[in-house]
Amino acid sequence: MRLQVVGIHSAIAPARLPCPHPQVWINQRVTPVPSATNDMLRGMGVSVSVLASGSRGNTALVESSRARILVDAGVSCRETFKRLKSIGLDPRTLSAILITHEHSDHIYGLATLAKKLSVPVFMTGATHQAWARALRDENGELPKLTKLEPFSSGRSFQIADVTVTPFTIPHDATDPVGFTFRAEGVKIAIVTDLGYMPASVCDHLRGSDVLMVESNHDLEMLRVGPYPWSVKQRVMSRVGHLSNDSLAQFFEKDYDGGASYIILAHLSEQNNHPELALRAAENALGLRRTLLRNRVTLAAQDAPTESIRL
Ligand SMILES: [Zn+2]
Ligand SMILES: [Zn+2]
Repeated sequence: MRLQVVGIHSAIAPARLPCPHPQVWINQRVTPVPSATNDMLRGMGVSVSVLASGSRGNTALVESSRARILVDAGVSCRETFKRLKSIGLDPRTLSAILITHEHSDHIYGLATLAKKLSVPVFMTGATHQAWARALRDENGELPKLTKLEPFSSGRSFQIADVTVTPFTIPHDATDPVGFTFRAEGVKIAIVTDLGYMPASVCDHLRGSDVLMVESNHDLEMLRVGPYPWSVKQRVMSRVGHLSNDSLAQFFEKDYDGGASYIILAHLSEQNNHPELALRAAENALGLRRTLLRNRVTLAAQDAPTESIRL
């Protein structure tokens, strides 16, 4: 049975821990030490692959020439391995796992993955505490991450040649974040699980070459759908999920039009339809003539989507 963690609030400052992994450096630029994981990195610039996206689990892969970063671990370890292998990647070559927030569809496979791969896991201190509390065993024993790397929202850090910038998003988790990744002159943004698009988030998304962004629900489908009213209210709230319409408004008003690729992500299976999400986004983007070259794709729940290489 899946763990459900919702609506926990705390504000505990994360402690800085040393980073033991040879592929990872915090807040500094250094030359990577050659290692087994450097067999590597397909030498083809920067890429993004969405392995799973939706309320049954989220995980994506950002690759540079020197790093392979898993963003969220929301499907089982076995399924993550299967999907990585299906895109031609050996899971043992991962450099790090980054976690956006502690909801089960983002951390379900984390404990097993971290144990099997022994890679550094980056999450905020507050998210780590919420995750550990939720996984506490019957004796009150908390789970351990041997290579925990706490970060703070708003403070960039370095994983090999990738600069990662976490930023706060409005969502009903303890300390939820989105990420931007910069490497080799390319910027990738990943932002899902947010009730609306604050100006601060719009700022972080500016200048992205790849924009993976939530298009969670169609408002009408949600209104007439099977969810209890309390859940509908939660999804629609300012700390819930981004609707097709809200994303369309962002595209019309605040989006800079710079991305070569837009990935619509975290679509609800109950309250959305891929065609509706795609049409809403394309209509909004179509209103701006300069944006016609954008390529809009849909992330899927049950299979990895084709990798985007830049
Ligand atoms: Zn969430
Ligand atoms: Zn989610």
